[in-house]
Amino acid sequence: MGSSTRVDVAIRGVRLMDAPVSRRAGAGPSDDGHVLLDGVGAAIPLNPRSPYSVDGGRLLLDGADTGMGVEAVARPRFYDLVTEDGVPYEQIARLHSAHVLATTVVQTCVRYAESERCRFCAIEESLRQGSTIAVKTPAQIAEVALAAHELDGVSQLVMTTGTSRGRDRGATHLARCVRAVREVLPDLPIQVQCEPPGDLATLSELHRAGANSIGIHVESLDDDARLRWMPGKGSVPMSEYRAAWAEAVRVFGWNQVSTYLLIGLGEDPDELVAGAEELIAMGVYPFVVPFRPLAGTLATEVDHVPAPAYEVVADVTSRVAAALRRAGMAGADQAAGCAACGACSALGCQGG
Ligand code: SF4
Repeated sequence: MGSSTRVDVAIRGVRLMDAPVSRRAGAGPSDDGHVLLDGVGAAIPLNPRSPYSVDGGRLLLDGADTGMGVEAVARPRFYDLVTEDGVPYEQIARLHSAHVLATTVVQTCVRYAESERCRFCAIEESLRQGSTIAVKTPAQIAEVALAAHELDGVSQLVMTTGTSRGRDRGATHLARCVRAVREVLPDLPIQVQCEPPGDLATLSELHRAGANSIGIHVESLDDDARLRWMPGKGSVPMSEYRAAWAEAVRVFGWNQVSTYLLIGLGEDPDELVAGAEELIAMGVYPFVVPFRPLAGTLATEVDHVPAPAYEVVADVTSRVAAALRRAGMAGADQAAGCAACGACSALGCQGG
């Protein structure tokens, strides 16, 4: 796949308003449609003003064929099922890209007050819209995972959580959910995502429960950017993140730990790349992703921050991909999770 087109379309999005598999609001990147670009999964922002469009299964730029095939990911069959107590499966977990099942086990966040909230996050927006439920029980998640695996061939599960008030910051409920899925699907690769838990022994508990990979997402390594963009989460000192990453690598293994790094939060690109290289040296995969201006976030509604420039995203992505190749660290080698899926980043199509 042309990696420059992949980066460009990841930023500018595509005029494709009826993608059968898409996300609105929620945690992490959203407002996107899930497609296969030349057969490779990609989560692309849906943007009615994008110069990219789709016609006859081809990706067009300003009406001209880019040479790239596009196929929308089909609506999965498990979306049509409902639990015994009447909750649509679609509100419990969603299909991401072609084969990933993803769920936010607790859809509220202790940091969601306007003065504390991460300015790029819309975790409670999908709850407000009624498209999900506040807390998913372990039994509900296990039920949906089994159906998604059997009916739609889902091959990995990603579980994230809003941050809770407890010292574990939500990790204990995640562990309960992993255990429940393990009972029905002993071999399904599972990634969990959480903040550094106050007690690092919780990381071993998540691993013992059956999680194969873990994402501990810092979003930015620059303290100024962290406090500006994430007044609540940015108050967790970097030393806590470093301790949690080191312990997670010890417990889960080299390249089974990852973190998101968002391009476009004002961080110096050279420092961002140097920070990514330090993470790689620790055994942590830096999942670099362009910041997306999402509806319902403070960044969009209040700050009006645009997506980062194409040149910056292309430069940072290609330098981090080169560092990953030098270290022999590939996202595809993670058992599960965003690095393994790769749909939200252009690292994978550059061998990272
Ligand atoms: S990279 Fe992560 S957030 Fe993006 S589609 Fe894949 S699993 Fe979902």
